[in-house]
Parts: sequence; C-alpha cells; structure tokens
Amino acid sequence: MREAKEGILILGGGFAGSYVARLLGAGGATIVSLENFMLYTPMLVEAASGTLEPRHSVVPLRAMCPHAELILGRVRGLDRSRRIVTVETDTSTVDIHYARLVIALGAVIRTLPIPGLDVHALGFKSLEDAIALRNHVLRKLEQADAEEDPGRAESHLTFVFVGGGYAGVEAVGELSDLVHDALRYYPRLQERRRRWVLVEAEPRILHEIPASLGQYAARELKRRGIDIRVSTLLEAVNPGSVRFSDGTTLPTETVVWTAGVRPHPLVADWGIPVDERGRVKVDETLRVEGFDNIFALGDCAAVPNAATPGHVDPPTCQHALRQARRLARNLRSRPAPYHYRMLGQVATLGRFKGIAEVIGLRFHGFLGWFVTRSYHLYQLPMPSRKLRVVADWTVSLFFRRDIVQVSGHHEPLVSVSGPDEA
Ligand SMILES: Cc1cc2nc3c(=O)[nH]c(=O)nc-3n(C[C@H](O)[C@H](O)[C@H](O)COP(=O)(O)OP(=O)(O)OC[C@H]3O[C@@H](n4cnc5c(N)ncnc54)[C@H](O)[C@@H]3O)c2cc1C
Repeated sequence: MREAKEGILILGGGFAGSYVARLLGAGGATIVSLENFMLYTPMLVEAASGTLEPRHSVVPLRAMCPHAELILGRVRGLDRSRRIVTVETDTSTVDIHYARLVIALGAVIRTLPIPGLDVHALGFKSLEDAIALRNHVLRKLEQADAEEDPGRAESHLTFVFVGGGYAGVEAVGELSDLVHDALRYYPRLQERRRRWVLVEAEPRILHEIPASLGQYAARELKRRGIDIRVSTLLEAVNPGSVRFSDGTTLPTETVVWTAGVRPHPLVADWGIPVDERGRVKVDETLRVEGFDNIFALGDCAAVPNAATPGHVDPPTCQHALRQARRLARNLRSRPAPYHYRMLGQVATLGRFKGIAEVIGLRFHGFLGWFVTRSYHLYQLPMPSRKLRVVADWTVSLFFRRDIVQVSGHHEPLVSVSGPDEA
C-alpha cells in the first residue's frame, strides 16, 4: 500500500489534473496518469499538420509539477470506504491510500452506433491519434500517386471529417493545408481531383460561437474547396466508401470522427453521483455531492459556475484550467465557490487564417489567426515549451512543411467502448 503525497491523490494528468498539481505548489500531491505529459489539445491539430513538432504540443508532467509525485498507470478501481485507488502500472498493481481524492479523468471519444465507424474511422483526441492521422494522410498521397486507376486515386484523395465543432473545423483546415503544400512534390497528383468534406448534424458549423464568426469560417473553408454538408449525418462507413443521411455515397478511405466526447466511463461505476450525461455531480466548490473528501473537475464533471447560473461549464481547456485554480485554492484553504466568466474563443483555420472572439471583440482572417496563436502561446505552461513552439512556428513561416511519414505508430481507430471498457 502506498500513501498519496500530502494525502492528495489526483486521477488524471490532463489539463485539469496537471494544473491542480502545479498550483498546489510546494506541498505537492500524487498524480496518476496514463502518460507522463499533459497534452495541450489546442495545438494537437498543428502537431498533425506538421507546423509543430508533435512532442512540442505536450508538456512533461514531472517538469510542469516538480513538487508532485507521478505514478504512470491506469486507474482501475476505487474503494471509497477504505479510501484506496487501485492502479495498474506496467509492472504491477498498486493500491494508493488517499485523504482527499481529485477526479480529473477527462473524457473519451463519443461515438454513435453507425455501421463500420469503429472499424474504419480514425479518432482525433490523443497525440497518438494526431501522429496516426498525419501518417495516414501522407500514406494516402503515396497510394494515390502509385495508383493507375483515376477513380481509385480520387478515392485515396477524398477525406471526410465528421463533426463541425472546433476539432473538426481546425483539423480539416490544417490537414487540407498539409496536402496542399505536400502536392508540390507529387506532380502526378496535381491534376487529380481532391475532395475534403466536413459533415455536421446541426444547421451550421461552429454553433458554439457567434454566427458571424461561424459564417466567416464556413466561407473561408468553402473558398478553399472544402465541401461543408450541414444538417447531414454519417450513416455508414464501408471499406472504401461512406454513406450520408441525404442518400449520397462517397468513395473514400479516410473518415475522421471528431463529433464529440463523453465523460470518462469509469466514474459511473464508482457509486458517486453522475448526471444524465455521465458527468460527476459537484457543488460550487468542486466537491462531489455527498462526499467530503472527493472532488471532480474538467471534462468528467458537471461543474456549476457562479458566473453562469443554471449552466454547468462546457468541456474546454479554459474552463478546466480555471476550475483547477479554484480547486487548488480550495484544497489549501477555506473553500470558496467557483466563478469564471469566459474571456473568449479562438480557432485556427490553417493558411494564416483564424477566428477569435476576445472580451466581446471579434477578429477573423490574419488577425484572428494571430490572436489565436498568441493566446495559446500565453496559456502554454513553462517558458521552455513556449520557446520550442515559437521556434517551430518561425521555421514553418520560412521553410516548407515537413512531409515525412514517421513509421512505428499504429493507427488508433475510433473506439466505441472507450479506453477502460475494452
Ligand atoms: C482535438 C481537440 C482539440 C481541442 N481544442 C480545444 C481548444 O482549442 N480550446 C479548448 O478550450 N478546449 C479544447 N479541447 C477540449 C480540451 O482538451 C478539454 O476540455 C480538456 O483537455 C479537459 O481537461 P481534462 O483534464 O478534464 O481532460 P484531459 O485533458 O483529457 O485529461 C484526462 C487525463 O486523464 C488521464 N486518464 C484517462 N483515463 C485514465 C485512467 N484510466 N487512468 C489514469 N489516467 C487516465 C489521461 O491520460 C489524461 O491525462 C480540445 C479537445 C480535443 C480532443
């Protein structure tokens, strides 16, 4: 049996968990995480498109939280009565005793029972997903180049993204840029038809941001030839084709699923209160309802916000970070309610274009892109990480994109069951 450092055990080293540990400062805590890094998800799409070295989109947990103890492993179970969490590491199973528990396990990809989705579609959530997606797209260019049959070549060059939220919009924008830049090295493919399709169930893409910015993003993507299909559902993914709810089918070998997340499934098995979406119910101090010594935050929790009465926070980094700030303070001193007014929203569209809404001001085009990048750079922890990112961005301004396909990574598919139900 192992004791958590200072009695505080944090499950999950993502945005929420890592920031709680960092902000707890000198006292420290014990973090259990699957990876030894915190993934800065807003930069994931750039890791996939090659404007950023993938390693630079993550922050090493041991450096980010120098006072915390890290146990690399998979949380398997919680015994509330004995205050013990069971963790499976690479070499053994460890029981960790805690005085106070922080649940920050995040979310998993949310899928729908669409035939073929779990077998043929790619997910886009982890660093591994980003590297796999990049490899997949570059491999498709090679396959199209080697193909004699024009129809087959065009199917290799058709890329379907499902989900018109931030992740889908940013991914289709950046990945189409990657292909656009790479094509200079593929003279045989220049006359071939390429198709980029973004499918969204709602009547418009980016429905979480002001309509004017969403419309700008849609216009910009359409101008680049991206086929945006709103009010449309993916109905089936077959080997070599997809079918949509409007009755059309499209030959393609690439379907990327970015249509949402759901809270980590483990939390629903622990006898703590969860809402209808499976999020842990917490009070305004981030304490799990009915439990004095258990707290939850981030994507796996339904966190009430005093600044938005009647609404719980959406699953975003900026909310996870502010919740972490509040919780770190609450763990150290007299608990106070969580209160955060959102400052704005930003997104990149590739090709030096972006959209941003910051303290009521709206920016798009180059200015939107600049504001988006500046914001992320500001938010990224650790000066050394910021410098690496600035160096990558500077290099990408002056040199052509790297089109190396890194081998050795498998291609993770969308998992219907989630990581802990397998
Ligand atoms: C592609 C993409 C782009 C995004 N872009 C933006 C953006 O631009 N702006 C924005 O505000 N938000 C963005 N988000 C949302 C944002 O990433 C999340 O809201 C945020 O990461 C939530 O933080 P979290 O700590 O709750 O979860 P996560 O950051 O997902 O962390 C969960 C942690 O739990 C660990 N874990 C999971 N299961 C186990 C287990 N069994 N045992 C041990 N550890 C486990 C994981 O390894 C991870 O460290 C994006 C998300 C994605 C997927």
